[in-house]
Amino acid sequence: MKNRLKDRIALVTGASSGIGEATALALAEQGAKVAIAARRRERLEQLAAKLSELGAEPLLLVADLASEAQAQRIVAQTQEHYGRLDILVNNAGVMYLEPVAEADLGRWRWMLELNVLSLIASTQAALAGMRARREGHIVNISSVAGRVANPNAAAYAATKFGVVGFSESLRREVYKDNIRVSVIEPGMVDTELREHIGHEASRRAVNARAGEMRQLQAEDIADAILFCVTRPDYVCINEVLMRPTDQE
Ligand code: NDP
Repeated sequence: MKNRLKDRIALVTGASSGIGEATALALAEQGAKVAIAARRRERLEQLAAKLSELGAEPLLLVADLASEAQAQRIVAQTQEHYGRLDILVNNAGVMYLEPVAEADLGRWRWMLELNVLSLIASTQAALAGMRARREGHIVNISSVAGRVANPNAAAYAATKFGVVGFSESLRREVYKDNIRVSVIEPGMVDTELREHIGHEASRRAVNARAGEMRQLQAEDIADAILFCVTRPDYVCINEVLMRPTDQE
């Protein structure tokens, strides 16, 4: 079935690779107009060309979302450009794994700002417009690490447990305004995420684990997001927890 999101306006953060890129394409294939945000302009331009071919009239937003102000700005720019925002996918994130005793707190602070505070800031910026129109859908990307805390992942787990808690509390604040909130919790997905782990032993360990399984693909997560945002508006998928079959 095509055009299930005809004329809907979506903003996907972290759209320059992986899950965000696949999600932007999946939404566009269903007729949504899509704003895409991340730091790497070139990657966004490549995606924008594909989105244009699908008729998604993309809005390209280069932003460093570790800054709350920039998270608010991209929401405002999307609303100004298209006149409103219907679907906000808060996907941008990093995963810095390292043992607590050796942790680089500067790196962890940066991860908390991006994975949690920025997601809160963009959500807050989107709420007034959604409330006024009595519709809207916020999709927050957490992780299996938001449900199960593994060693070497303490701060990453803190961010992703944080996203789960924030999303459920938010849902209960806004459901009476007909605003839906969904949280997605993927297991191991084959993306660039692990490449940025600065602690070498942790990067090697997680890559070795990934090599032992058939990982999820970014498109599998995009499918789950599409499922959430294409339900009739009396249906709110609160939470999707998805692991590779091979993951414990
Ligand atoms: P990728 O590394 O492929 O994508 C991460 C995205 O976030 C990129 O588009 C990147 O763009 C963007 N990003 C990173 N830092 C910033 C920043 N400071 N400002 C703006 N954008 C930023 O990884 P995934 O697709 O896997 O990750 C997407 C989400 O999925 C993350 O929240 C991650 O925690 C979550 N997740 C991933 C899993 C996995 O196994 N891959 C499992 C569970 C959850 P750019 O560098 O251009 O800024």
